[in-house]
Amino acid sequence: MAEKIVGIDLGGTMVKIGIVNSNGEIVKKDEIATKLELGFQKVVERICEKIKEMVELKDVKAVGIGSPGSIDHDKGIIEFSPNFPGWNNVPLKDEVEKYLNVPVFIENDANSAALGEKWFGEGKNKDHIVVLTLGTGIGGGVITHGKLLTGGNGIGAELGHMIVDPHGPVCGCGNYGCLEAMASATALIRYANEGRKRFPESMIFEFERQREVLGAREIFDAYRSNDKLAIRIFDTFVEAMSVGITSIIHIFNPQMVILGGGMSKSADLFIPKITEKVNMRVIPSFMGTFKIVGSKLGNDAGILGAAAIALENL
Ligand SMILES: [Zn+2]
Repeated sequence: MAEKIVGIDLGGTMVKIGIVNSNGEIVKKDEIATKLELGFQKVVERICEKIKEMVELKDVKAVGIGSPGSIDHDKGIIEFSPNFPGWNNVPLKDEVEKYLNVPVFIENDANSAALGEKWFGEGKNKDHIVVLTLGTGIGGGVITHGKLLTGGNGIGAELGHMIVDPHGPVCGCGNYGCLEAMASATALIRYANEGRKRFPESMIFEFERQREVLGAREIFDAYRSNDKLAIRIFDTFVEAMSVGITSIIHIFNPQMVILGGGMSKSADLFIPKITEKVNMRVIPSFMGTFKIVGSKLGNDAGILGAAAIALENL
């Protein structure tokens, strides 16, 4: 009986593919370069050929694909994605189904992360969870009454563009003070660069020289050593996150707020501080109703989320 699920984490540079068994274990995984320059048809073909190499199609029950951008999950098309220039209204679901002849389901990557937590992660056995993916940007996924909340056009739960300070820095979306503009890795790096002149001795720049990269990790590592600039950036981050999460709690009354994405590797550092600040802000009746935790899915979050899209729709 076909019971394997294929989870595809589609990115602009790499595509991660995993074969997930009925126990939710990844039995095989691999990745290939996306090679966007080859065009949509060829990219789809390459992914499908890879899947055929990895698993017998007769064992596959369904395929789930998590993709950045605006996704129409009913029609199975990517409407638009900044990660895939030129892919406008591409029929991803239909094309993959044509190649593989198994049911295919697609969803936005942040929603996929939320489903991954519901099926395999911290949100198991919970009907009300909110997932924030902290990385280059901030994505949001909301599960309420056990179902993904997508809104009228399937593009809702853009929690990263919740405005947490109207006088804050400009966001990629053009607004000011979105959570993403104040708490994403991109924002933290921007704060570090702004502090370069005043804090040239900061550990952040020492790490940058050693590792030849400046990312959220360098800032969090410097914070662990009580670095002044890192403390300043960290406090801004915690403040923005706690304002945002307080609103999330008031609006959705989740049992759990799960922080995922690349920055969740430092969750041990910021979750206690964020929790403390959120507790100072929530309406008393919400006290004790929620937990803020880090995702435990790690590098497999994308594949498991994609597999969960298929499981959710079967
Ligand atoms: Zn924004």
